[in-house]
Amino acid sequence: MSPVIAPVTFPESSTVADQRTQMTLESTPAQAFRVESPQVRYTDEFILSEYVYRNSKVVKNGNGSVSVLPTEQTFHFKVERTVPKVGLMMVGWGGNNGSTLTASIVANRKGIQWHTKEGVKSPNYYGSLTQASTLKLGIDEKGSDYYIPFNQILPMVAPNDLVLGGWDINSANLAEAMQRAQVLDWDLQRQLIPELEALKPLPSIYYPDYIAANQGDRANNVLPGSKKEHLDQIRKDIREFKAANELDKVIVVWTANTERFSDIIPGVNDSADNLLAAVEQGHEEIAPSTIFALACILEKTPFVNGSPQNTFVPGVVDLAEREKVYIGGDDFKSGQTKVKSVLVDFLVNAGIKPLSITSYNHLGNNDGKNLSAPAQFRSKEISKSNVVDDMVAANQVLYAPGEHPDHIVVIKYCPSVGDSKRALDEYVSEIFMGGRNTISLYNVCEDSLLASPLILDLAIITELMTRIQYRTDDMEEYGAFHSVLSVLSYMLKAPMVPPGTPVVNALAKQRAAVENIFRACIGLPPQSDMMLEHKAL
Ligand code: NAD
Repeated sequence: MSPVIAPVTFPESSTVADQRTQMTLESTPAQAFRVESPQVRYTDEFILSEYVYRNSKVVKNGNGSVSVLPTEQTFHFKVERTVPKVGLMMVGWGGNNGSTLTASIVANRKGIQWHTKEGVKSPNYYGSLTQASTLKLGIDEKGSDYYIPFNQILPMVAPNDLVLGGWDINSANLAEAMQRAQVLDWDLQRQLIPELEALKPLPSIYYPDYIAANQGDRANNVLPGSKKEHLDQIRKDIREFKAANELDKVIVVWTANTERFSDIIPGVNDSADNLLAAVEQGHEEIAPSTIFALACILEKTPFVNGSPQNTFVPGVVDLAEREKVYIGGDDFKSGQTKVKSVLVDFLVNAGIKPLSITSYNHLGNNDGKNLSAPAQFRSKEISKSNVVDDMVAANQVLYAPGEHPDHIVVIKYCPSVGDSKRALDEYVSEIFMGGRNTISLYNVCEDSLLASPLILDLAIITELMTRIQYRTDDMEEYGAFHSVLSVLSYMLKAPMVPPGTPVVNALAKQRAAVENIFRACIGLPPQSDMMLEHKAL
């Protein structure tokens, strides 16, 4: 019997621009619940909550013992309820990630289905924390867990409502870029081509020294002029994009090539004023990504860095703090590192001692080509290297101070595998009574299908954070969080945190932090998983 083939929807002839104007913000899911509590108040404009943050302070006594003091601090949160009209501008829009995300959003908006040899497929947002995962809101009257889609915990922009734009040093339109990427199935690409042809990246900043020399032939859409002129042009692009699309806010995400690291030079990039002066002087040690970050901050536009390089030199962080603009980074945590931040957490918390973590990758997309140059590989190597530090440092039973598992990262360019990256990992651990346990993983996956949903989550959570304010009892006014958005850590390989604060890499802790902060904003306690109601019978 032949299989039943579901009908395929073919796109109408409307353009993406038409589609945008047809879109209403009603597609944003309304909050499907209300918290009934004296600590929570809903107004037309805000959700206001009062939340007691409980912690334990450990005090080291002189004699080697410690005292533990339970602490409490009241936080007042204020969340703007109206979801604004948001633009997402990607730097490197025509790359594999940029084109895959754009094509996928259009496919989702239009409900375009496509044939594969396995049958008919429909678009979705799998892999997105906000769109495809759930969280436990509480327990129902029978004591069963009650889950809601993650994006219902607070009002968030819906991916289909994002207005997309961006820059690329290559002039390919988004239809050409999607085809070049070779990520999506052809039957889907075929239907998307008319939708994407009109989308053209804006010219961008190209300083050949910062990315691999093998990228030179892509650079046919570059801005002329000085570094200061580049800064001004990017600022103008953001303003014009906002005005042309009648946007309330823009979020910019760097998904362009990995750059080499910039040297930190006293007097050049170590403070906001020095960095801005260095841009005026056209100093050579300022990366394109740093110019983008500066432009965004000066336009009060949040900027997230999805690549590993040190875009956020101290001068950028200084400016972001001064201008009170959110920045986040670095490097999307999509595949191998994500697994690592789960597996090492599991091993160490199970009392098993990882001795070595050996990671090999090969990939054949343009990212792999760029990373085949030593300086760009080095950026990635640094970004991937510290990912288990916090988990190892947390277990003094297994590890002596300063002791660390061997950790090796190798990346090779292999054109024939295209975007379908191979990641081979070996974890050797010491177990009970001197035994050895070796876990070998072989992960095959389209890199851009892992990274694209992360770009969405980064943009959506960053936008939401611009609508959340807090105040403690000793603050007179509500204020924003620190400019460095560590709440984005779940999506990032080398999470940036406010200067002097601890980095968390363990994936479960990172997810718990986002979930529990959002719960606090509606006056709910953190998810404890104690389930005492089922134990104290
Ligand atoms: P890609 O090479 O396909 O795309 C990068 C795009 O950036 C290209 O179109 C290039 O022309 C453009 N570009 C380079 N310099 C630019 C500049 N100064 N301004 C504007 N555009 C510029 O790479 P990709 O696979 O889309 O990955 C993008 C970035 O994300 C890479 O740095 C990669 O390391 C990082 N990343 C990707 C993943 C993943 O795909 N799973 C995970 C972590 C990090």
